[in-house]
Amino acid sequence: MLNLGCHLTSSKGYEHMGRQALQINADTFQFFTRNPRGGKAKEIDPEDVKRFLEIAEANNFVKIVAHAPYTLNPCSAEQKTRDFAYMAMKDDLERMEFTPGNYYNFHPGSHVGQGIEKGVEMIADLLNRILKPEQTTTVLLETMAGKGSEVGSRFEELAAIIDRVDLKEKMGVCLDTCHVSDAGYNIIGDPEGVLDEFDRIIGLNRLKAIHVNDSLNPVGAHKDRHACIGEGKIGLDAIVKFINNPRLKGLPMILETPQPDLEGYGKEIKMLREMSK
Ligand code: FE
Ligand code: FE
Ligand code: ZN
Repeated sequence: MLNLGCHLTSSKGYEHMGRQALQINADTFQFFTRNPRGGKAKEIDPEDVKRFLEIAEANNFVKIVAHAPYTLNPCSAEQKTRDFAYMAMKDDLERMEFTPGNYYNFHPGSHVGQGIEKGVEMIADLLNRILKPEQTTTVLLETMAGKGSEVGSRFEELAAIIDRVDLKEKMGVCLDTCHVSDAGYNIIGDPEGVLDEFDRIIGLNRLKAIHVNDSLNPVGAHKDRHACIGEGKIGLDAIVKFINNPRLKGLPMILETPQPDLEGYGKEIKMLREMSK
């Protein structure tokens, strides 16, 4: 069975997200650690976390995925933006220890004209300042669409970041189907080839989570505009085929489609589960 979930709003806490997941037959979910545009994080209530962990345990949830704010950019040219990246990630990872052993996903960054190499260096530098041997969270680099000066649209770039990180055992990758297609990888026509390439360049052992999205744009468009499953250029059949690849078995798969509400995600999850039988 697929391990499916969607992006949920975290404003009402962990227990609420757990109950929402149950409502839509999900066994994982994703949430923002703080306002996606930045800002201070909400205080964590240990009692709320405890109630969530009971729900997760009783319903065989797989790992959940926390998503860093979009404004977190370790390779900005501005010192104050880099300082925010340090502060936010450090604080987020401390908070993640309330729910041990899960994933923290972030967009590697935009090098804003400084070049990919410099970007890779700055991203790895941030990770080396923050990662601790005793942390239980695995930090995931998200595969990017290659919009603007984004770092991480080529598997080589993600491999180069991991290569420079000292605590490699704390690092993984989250593959976003919309982003990899936009980046130019042919997951419609040659999904096995894309996974082969991922394995050769990064290693499939590093692949920890999937973002399941259709794309409004064709392969190689570098746009990053998500579509609901079956309403984009990747299409329902290709997505169903991809997420059912035996090499992805057991990974948390998160919908980040532009659904209007929880019910919409519920329908999408139901459809994907039925088509995967
Ligand atoms: Fe993302
Ligand atoms: Fe994503
Ligand atoms: Zn995206």
